[in-house]
Amino acid sequence: MKPQHNVIEIAPRSWCISEYKLVNAFLIEGETTAALIDTGCGIGNIAQVVKSLTDKPIVILLTHNHFDHNGGLYHFPQSEVYMHPADDGLWQSMMKMSPDGSYNGLRSFYIKSRGAVRCPEYKVEDLLALIPRDNPSPEFQYTAVNHGDKIDLGGRILTVIHTPGHTEGGVCYLDENSGILFSGDTVNNSIILMRQPDNDTVLIKRYHDTVKKLWEEEKSYTALAIGHDGTVIPKQIVKDYLDLTTGLLNGTITGEYKETGFRKGDVANLGMAELWYQCDA
Ligand SMILES: [Zn+2]
Repeated sequence: MKPQHNVIEIAPRSWCISEYKLVNAFLIEGETTAALIDTGCGIGNIAQVVKSLTDKPIVILLTHNHFDHNGGLYHFPQSEVYMHPADDGLWQSMMKMSPDGSYNGLRSFYIKSRGAVRCPEYKVEDLLALIPRDNPSPEFQYTAVNHGDKIDLGGRILTVIHTPGHTEGGVCYLDENSGILFSGDTVNNSIILMRQPDNDTVLIKRYHDTVKKLWEEEKSYTALAIGHDGTVIPKQIVKDYLDLTTGLLNGTITGEYKETGFRKGDVANLGMAELWYQCDA
């Protein structure tokens, strides 16, 4: 099967654009502007898909600064990009994972490690053929967003919620109009927190505070639009992560070390939630 972007309408004037099932971006249209929440890792041409869905000017809202979410920015040179400043410099530090020190090296590493797991119906070589040949620069300018900021798309306002854990500058975008929380990699079916020196629990505490804050807002949304492995999921998962991190911190839940697919680290589960919390990969 030939790889293709998959578009799913998740609410009126709201679409999930799945980049070959590797990662999701979301397009949200207001009266005056449309927001693209994340851009994929930049294989194929997401801009063409966006153009087929809206003729409004596009702003880009990054949930965080990982290359699989900002890698398609080069398709939108005219668009303003919004990001939390605590993630400044993060993509540069990810370059050490690249076999040849380039963004295309990261893209090919990503396809080779995730492709067979996330989209087994596509051939890895067909996905690799979608990597941009001209090796576009990953550099970008951005406007800083902070907790509580409102982004007005014209009759549709997105609220920024700062949600550190997966990355320090991770944010969710709350759309009260549709009742959807766009949660990136802050909350999805399988969350990664990097390994901390001496297995310190500081990052689990940080993430616990994040899901606590999100659950306190739960009356504002009914569902989450997630970054990977699914599209829209029930908000109950936020409560599951809250209970899971509570248990890990008070010792009633302990995880175990596992290596599966492209993940390595300590993992614990509760309900819909799966947390990799001393994660090496
Ligand atoms: Zn991420």
